[in-house]
Amino acid sequence: MALYQDQSFLIQSSQPLFDLKNAPGAIATASGIYRCNGCGCEIAVEKGYELPSHAKHDHGFQFGPATWQLIVAAI
Ligand SMILES: [Zn+2]
Repeated sequence: MALYQDQSFLIQSSQPLFDLKNAPGAIATASGIYRCNGCGCEIAVEKGYELPSHAKHDHGFQFGPATWQLIVAAI
């Protein structure tokens, strides 16, 4: 779960980019914090850079397939 201290720096958004389930190794379409829908791991990735692949993400078999979902966008 991502943490924050001051809510005034965040704005709720329903933009579709938050609904995308990105494959491991896909290129990030937005800068921000991404969460693995399998194990819950969170990472920060800059737009245009690769989301962690299977080889770079310590994701246990018991969590099922890994996909990355944007949870906080940096604008
Ligand atoms: Zn994972």
